Amino acid sequence: MHYRRWRIHGDTETTLKAANGDGYLQGGYPGHQVDGVRVFDHVKVAELALGKPLPPGAVVHHVNEIKTDCRPENLVICPNKAYHNLIHARMRALDACGDANKRACRYCKEYDSLENMRVYGNGASTAYWHTQCNRDAAKATYYANRGPLKVGVLEFGGERGTYALWSQKTGIKSSTISMRINKYGWSLDRALTEGAKNER
Ligand SMILES: [Zn+2]
Ligand SMILES: [Zn+2]
Repeated sequence: MHYRRWRIHGDTETTLKAANGDGYLQGGYPGHQVDGVRVFDHVKVAELALGKPLPPGAVVHHVNEIKTDCRPENLVICPNKAYHNLIHARMRALDACGDANKRACRYCKEYDSLENMRVYGNGASTAYWHTQCNRDAAKATYYANRGPLKVGVLEFGGERGTYALWSQKTGIKSSTISMRINKYGWSLDRALTEGAKNER
């Protein structure tokens, strides 16, 4: 009955305020104190439209994304967060590329059809990416993490030398030194002394 009245008057917020007294904004969403309990207007309006309390996990979406617009026609009751996220993902895609079915690759940020991408996760947090973009990113991370000491010249104990030179000095194969440092992450000290045949 109240819901019908709001509908007719078309000004939910004003009517709610008049009816219930204490209005407030939380996170940009208007709400009201009803019998000492804070209730968001969009929840109240949705529940009146539904004729019962929102089911657990339900989320109310604002169609025009204006948080204060709680007219019934601006609200959609989503059964869960995943469904709500889907609505927003589709809106973003439509906005960005004109096709609600496309999604953005997490690496190159380009929108593309799902058949061209890997999809990871579902519902609340889904990630999409091109296989090639993922490969490129992995490669870039690998090279970024190889520090400057790991290529070419090693400086240890005040001496600088190539892997080959350190191999001569220590009697450890240069490929072994390289593996110890680059693959196993050993310290230079350990890499150049463990199993060394020659005294330095
Ligand atoms: Zn929403
Ligand atoms: Zn990509």
